[in-house]
Amino acid sequence: MLRRRLTSAILLCAILLPTAAFAQSGAIYQAPKETIDKLKEEGMKNSQVMQTLSYLTNVIGARLTASPNMKRANEWTRDTMTKWGMQNAHLESWGPFGRGWELKRFSAQVSAPYAFPIIAYPKAWSPGLSILPAQTAPNPKDKKNKTAQTIQPSTVLTADVIYFDAKTEADFEKYKGQLKGKIVLMSDVREVKADFDGYGARLNDKDLLELANSPDPASIERPAGPPNQSQMQARLERFMNGLKRAKFLIDEGAAIVVDNSFNGSGGTVFVQQASVAADIPANPLDFFTQKRLQPWDKEAESKMVPQVTVATEDYNRLVRMVQAGEKVQMTVDLAVQYHDEDTMAYNTVAEIPGSDPALKDEVVMLGGHMDSWHSGTGATDNGAGVAVAMEAARIILASGLKPRRTIRVALWSGEEQGLFGSSNYVKQHFGEMKGGGNIFGIPQPNQPKPELVKGADYEKLSAYYNLDNGTGKIRGVYMQGNSAVAPIFRKWLAPFGDLGASTLTMQNTGGTDHLSFDRIGLPGFQFIQDEIEYDTRTHHSNQDVFDRIQAEDMKQASTIMAAFVYQTAMMDEKMPRKVMR
Ligand SMILES: [Zn+2]
Repeated sequence: MLRRRLTSAILLCAILLPTAAFAQSGAIYQAPKETIDKLKEEGMKNSQVMQTLSYLTNVIGARLTASPNMKRANEWTRDTMTKWGMQNAHLESWGPFGRGWELKRFSAQVSAPYAFPIIAYPKAWSPGLSILPAQTAPNPKDKKNKTAQTIQPSTVLTADVIYFDAKTEADFEKYKGQLKGKIVLMSDVREVKADFDGYGARLNDKDLLELANSPDPASIERPAGPPNQSQMQARLERFMNGLKRAKFLIDEGAAIVVDNSFNGSGGTVFVQQASVAADIPANPLDFFTQKRLQPWDKEAESKMVPQVTVATEDYNRLVRMVQAGEKVQMTVDLAVQYHDEDTMAYNTVAEIPGSDPALKDEVVMLGGHMDSWHSGTGATDNGAGVAVAMEAARIILASGLKPRRTIRVALWSGEEQGLFGSSNYVKQHFGEMKGGGNIFGIPQPNQPKPELVKGADYEKLSAYYNLDNGTGKIRGVYMQGNSAVAPIFRKWLAPFGDLGASTLTMQNTGGTDHLSFDRIGLPGFQFIQDEIEYDTRTHHSNQDVFDRIQAEDMKQASTIMAAFVYQTAMMDEKMPRKVMR
């Protein structure tokens, strides 16, 4: 395999070159080989990671933020980590978030001109055709307060299916008065291509080389001057068009709004939250700067119709039948319950206390988000990250190591709705950025300059390690533009080259909880992971299930995370921080 070795050699040079400036740092802490071997032995041979993940996904199931399942997951992870010997395991609240949502019953089929079943899922927080009275906090005076409720008699709807083929607002006119009580198909047919390349992929040498060679994000020139107005205008118009459609459908009294899975095929359905028919402000930009109604807000219930997403092959067929002039009917049963008994949401937090009197007040954190979407069981997003972070702590404990700093596992909620669990935690403990403002990622003029307000423990955190890119094994680390960590991470990755992890990139990566730390200048890192089937099949879909998990990858990731966390806890100094720009 000469070609492969040659590429690896080039790869190694590419990684080492930018770090040459730090070659003088002979004092970088590195755990002795016996310690790393111990961690490897426990992590690769005595692994519990698949058992943890199996319970979390197969038994507890989907974990939508603020749902009863999420609470159960919070409690189960707290109790499990306590059983393993971790200390101070507890739930930490943030919020108020809003209401929980629980699906009580669902089925959908075509019932005319002849019957056939379809693959479909309701959107999260969608109202049902029958809505159970919302669960509220028990009134202590009410002795008869019953917790168990029977589901109300089924309200099954059979109705005509209409294809809402409106490209612009002008097209709405021809549907006026036509939609009341109807089941409305609101997206277009989406072409499905044959899958010649396969769903799964790992990062190859070329991908890794590109990552290793990517420049410091701070050195990338950004176009000067005001934000690209025309680009922003186009995005805004697309966005507003979607809002106007949603509002028209609710105003016209559609019974159920149905859309096409935006990705995937073969019965895979990608489905997230319901849309709220918000009032459209005179100045559309106000929509982004003012607090807007979210489907988990109680007041949103009256501004939503029941919403369902259908697998693409089934959806396409429905549209084609209607277009061919068939009178199509569907029969849908959808019962949901909202939960208002506790508007707060929770992160699970547990610790391995530090052993060095001088350093035990400092912490090294690791974690991932535990909340998931509702159609699968949140295995790759992000049961995997939760099971790996818990397992990394278990490996350290089981190896009998005594970290100098306190190691703290945090399993977040509300990530899928906007990194809420981690950002609230960071705000409560470490600090926040105040001011600033952007729309579609573009900083807006006339906003106060963002300013860091430090919290009580800002100086006590060494680093936070996050895992949330699916089931794929760790291939390296995104350094988030922090070049000072390169020589340290380089040393720490060395014993894991044989397990496929050797790449450091200056690149930033986004979309997950390390950003809550990074945003205020604390070292927060997400590992580089193999893609496997994340974007093609599992991420936010009904196929995000335990069977899509790669056991060997999970063991490798847990072992590497354990080694990084342990060594961070053993350094004389805290992890170097990058200069805030
Ligand atoms: Zn996600």
